[in-house]
Amino acid sequence: MLGLYVHIPFCSAICNYCNFNRGLFDASLKEQYVAALGREIALKGDGSSADTIFFGGGTPSLLEPEDVRAIVTALRAGFDVSSDVEVTLEANPETVSPERLDGFRAAGVNRLSYGVQSFRDEELGRLSRLHSAARAVEAFGMARAAGFDNVSLDLMMWLPQQSIEYWLESVDRLIDLRPDHASLYILELYPNAPLRETMARSKWSLAPDDDAAEMYLEAMQRLDRAGYSQYEISNVAISGFESRHNLKYWTDGEWLGFGCGAHSTRHHVRWKNISSTTEYIAAATSGGHLDVERRELTPQEALEEALFTGLRLARGIDINAVNARYNVDVWAAYRDELERFLETGMVIYDGRVLRLSRAGMLVANEIMSLFLSTSVVD
Ligand code: SF4
Repeated sequence: MLGLYVHIPFCSAICNYCNFNRGLFDASLKEQYVAALGREIALKGDGSSADTIFFGGGTPSLLEPEDVRAIVTALRAGFDVSSDVEVTLEANPETVSPERLDGFRAAGVNRLSYGVQSFRDEELGRLSRLHSAARAVEAFGMARAAGFDNVSLDLMMWLPQQSIEYWLESVDRLIDLRPDHASLYILELYPNAPLRETMARSKWSLAPDDDAAEMYLEAMQRLDRAGYSQYEISNVAISGFESRHNLKYWTDGEWLGFGCGAHSTRHHVRWKNISSTTEYIAAATSGGHLDVERRELTPQEALEEALFTGLRLARGIDINAVNARYNVDVWAAYRDELERFLETGMVIYDGRVLRLSRAGMLVANEIMSLFLSTSVVD
């Protein structure tokens, strides 16, 4: 089944670390954009089966509930959307109200994903986020009161001036709220991020690498003890609340992306839409080409992708299934390179499943880069 991704590129303010495809909210541009999305969906809808819809951004919760309803209706008209579809809306705590949340639910949203990032106000301030910790707690309560029984909270770790203690305080506050799902990301600063300059000027520093490792491992242990299970490097859930949409990215699935900069992958072909919001609207309105990059993955690239993404999952990769799908012998091809990680317990192989231990997840990029060193399929 397909996943359907809808990109909403508008934000109330631009956070000082953000490298996503987004711009400042403009009501008239938003109107044009929602209409353009309707055109793209009508053009690409081919009746295929889909079981997830994901509104990502940007800040999708800046849409009006009727905008969300119009987009969901267009997707239902263009695709065979399953009756138990998972419809996720990414939301920022400062944008919601009981009325808006009721409206989103009535429009078909059944999963909310809040960008909380921290439960300490000074950390939120350093990230130039618009909400406070109290507002995040209030927004979570509003979601429950509106009947959302599938709510995810995002936190970010390794923030400027963040100690292990401060980080774990945020983790504990998250656990106290009992969300159904949580994502824990490490702050990654792109080269020209304004936050870099502010950090230099304000003499803010990051905790040492060893502390970052402890932040990750201790947080995961606390979440384990609280009944969450880690199903991906950065994601935990109460059993049954794993993100069905995001799992498509990690299990060699297929998805279509709508909106500016959205990526799609289908039948081993990958493409990306025009990034600029205004150019996207113009192209969608005039019936022009929306995709700017389109290419077929080589068999080697498809295999690497399956290994990279599969290893992100706690359950790992079923080597026999990958061998059969790509006509390779993964173990024979990569055993030598994997040896040192197997010896240190960072990679675990039981003759069928290859997976990362939690310590291995900390150095996942290093381990995954091994698959780039040897070409094993033509
Ligand atoms: S709200 Fe999210 S998408 Fe928007 S600027 Fe901040 S981090 Fe980026």
